[in-house]
Amino acid sequence: MPDSMKETLVIIGSGPAGWSAATYAARAQLKPLVYEGAITEKNRMSGTLPLGQLALTSEVENYAGFAHGDLGAFLDSALPSTRREMMAPHVGEGVTGPELMELMRQQAVNFGTRIITDDILKVDFSKRPFLIYPSEGGVVEADCVIVATGASANWLGLPSEEHFKNRGVSACAVCDGALPRFRNRPIVVVGGGDSAVEEATYLAKFASTVHLIHRRESLRASKIMAQRAHDDPKIKIHFNSGLAEVLGDDAKGVTGVRLVSTTTPTQEETLEVAGVFLAIGHTPNTDFLDGQLALTGKKYIEWKKHFRTDTSVEGVFAAGDVADDYYRQAISAAGTGCMSALDAERWLSHSGSH
Ligand code: NAP
Repeated sequence: MPDSMKETLVIIGSGPAGWSAATYAARAQLKPLVYEGAITEKNRMSGTLPLGQLALTSEVENYAGFAHGDLGAFLDSALPSTRREMMAPHVGEGVTGPELMELMRQQAVNFGTRIITDDILKVDFSKRPFLIYPSEGGVVEADCVIVATGASANWLGLPSEEHFKNRGVSACAVCDGALPRFRNRPIVVVGGGDSAVEEATYLAKFASTVHLIHRRESLRASKIMAQRAHDDPKIKIHFNSGLAEVLGDDAKGVTGVRLVSTTTPTQEETLEVAGVFLAIGHTPNTDFLDGQLALTGKKYIEWKKHFRTDTSVEGVFAAGDVADDYYRQAISAAGTGCMSALDAERWLSHSGSH
């Protein structure tokens, strides 16, 4: 890229919030530039590849407008063949997370959104134009910025978990679940929310048994999801239980887990398993902001006005999971993405930049 670029609107992030913001901004003639993130092993491991968390899920059943139906032909016609060929073939009757994200990206492109496949390392929001520093080097000047960098999966922080990452320990069932090492073998999923149940249900297609390990005595997941876990004969739920250690060796990778009761810490149990999947919530991707925007106690960007996407810096807006620790749905992220583009457009117009 050139040493410096001057932009009206830069959108950082490429999940439902980023693409919805881009589509609205492009249709408003703001010529948005999206930094969609870089395709690197580091981003793969931390769950921050382009297209966000939805690209790491399987079926999406609750995104309005995508009722069950055969989307295969529609995908073939809506996406350029170069990107379509890189995707898994369409199976089933609904839309998958990766399919939905590709469609959102393409919709933004169709209206003139420009995309750079790179990470933003740091920003300077202390003066206008704002300065944005991509990892490839150079600097981008922007009149207005929308931050939509989402959140990424949490890890327990056990040394054994770190040791066996990529060798049986994963935080993404959809990315890794179909690997031969897990086929017809018992595996463990840790967590009790919708993600844990979704991962367990998905993994039950491949594994012989899925042990769902939850630290409390009831699931946090929504009723319909929890019922699915209870009804699946391949899922065995271990309540009041915590993962204390991942067991294994360098030749085989993960071979088991040591569980400890959360109510009676002296009670331990060992399970023989081939894999461990973590589904214990998320942390917002705000590190690169380095104090430039006000954050909440949980490090989410603080929305400063009621029902608006304004941040603590005038001209910088936030959308999606990076600012939302409450709803955290693809559709609510897309909704705030739309709001952020409208807020940006009005702000640019009032400030005389557009
Ligand atoms: P979540 O709802 O925050 O659940 C995280 C789970 O991990 C909780 O059960 C929590 O236990 C457990 N946990 C957290 N830290 C832990 C630790 N250190 N050790 C052991 N367990 C730990 O997160 P999520 O499941 O990722 O869901 C996030 C949002 O996305 C939710 O709003 C959810 O509805 C949504 N979502 C929706 C769908 C869907 O509709 N299909 C699918 C996935 C996610 P406690 O219960 O004890 O706190």
